[in-house]
Amino acid sequence: MSKKKKEKKERPKPLFVKKNDIVVVISGDDRGKQGKVLKVFPKEQRIIVEGINFIKRHTRPSQKNPQGGIIEKEAPIHVSNVMVVCSKCGQPTRVGHQILNDGSKIRVCKKCGEMLEAA
Ligand SMILES: [Zn+2]
Repeated sequence: MSKKKKEKKERPKPLFVKKNDIVVVISGDDRGKQGKVLKVFPKEQRIIVEGINFIKRHTRPSQKNPQGGIIEKEAPIHVSNVMVVCSKCGQPTRVGHQILNDGSKIRVCKKCGEMLEAA
């Protein structure tokens, strides 16, 4: 008996958000806040945004941190909760894609059509 395994090694879908993008949060407690993308997790479709979604972690005293206490740290948020802010027109926008003549793919602002940086 042969088991048919439908297992494609899929590469995670590239995120429309890149590191160092400015994004605005469109839902949740941080709605309306803007921040810079510090880290992306394509597999999880999550990102860490500077100053957004702080969580408090209680830590025990350790050598590094003899007091222990509460550390505030950004937690990843799902990309569906943010929109990229276009650096050209300053609007939160959806990201479009364009293929250039040389075959390279770029990201474009759907509001003003300007190029964001390379995809
Ligand atoms: Zn724009």
